[in-house]
Amino acid sequence: MPLDLTYTTERFCAEMDAAAYIANFRRADYFMQFCRECGNYGRRHGCPHFDYDPLSVIAPYRKIHIIGVKIVPHDENLPLSEANTLMLPVILGLNDELLALEKSLGGMAFGFAGSCPYCGEAPCARIDGLPCRHPDKVRPSLEAFGFDISKTASDLLGLEIKWSYDGSIPEYLVLVCGVYY
Ligand code: SF4
Repeated sequence: MPLDLTYTTERFCAEMDAAAYIANFRRADYFMQFCRECGNYGRRHGCPHFDYDPLSVIAPYRKIHIIGVKIVPHDENLPLSEANTLMLPVILGLNDELLALEKSLGGMAFGFAGSCPYCGEAPCARIDGLPCRHPDKVRPSLEAFGFDISKTASDLLGLEIKWSYDGSIPEYLVLVCGVYY
């Protein structure tokens, strides 16, 4: 029987002063130790390490608009291996929205950690030292710039991130992204 990959989404937004967000929600050294242990570290254009100082990139901006999306699968027993499939359409739609906001606000969008959806099965061009094939679409995540996504979700969006302990997708998944402007 095919898996039921249908879901509903709920959306949450917050607006914050950029400097206050950096001061209260960024722990770059702490989170970078986990990034270094990830197989994507230095192997995807959206992931650390970067050849620039992340703080210098966001320094010109005064505010950040943060968006959280809660994805609630209809099937409560989906295997965790289906999480990326479940999130993909939401990620693609949100990324388009972020890029439109980036353009209209004159800012910089921050997308999603993990696998990059734009090259299909092809390995990331960064592995061969080549530029990104889709620089118009790929942005770093807030995690990649050292921001605490669990704290952002709980303190600013009122969303508790759930973890899987039994190999199944938890009650819901959470995506957090944003635009500095
Ligand atoms: S679009 Fe392709 S080249 Fe660019 S970050 Fe994604 S996987 Fe890498």
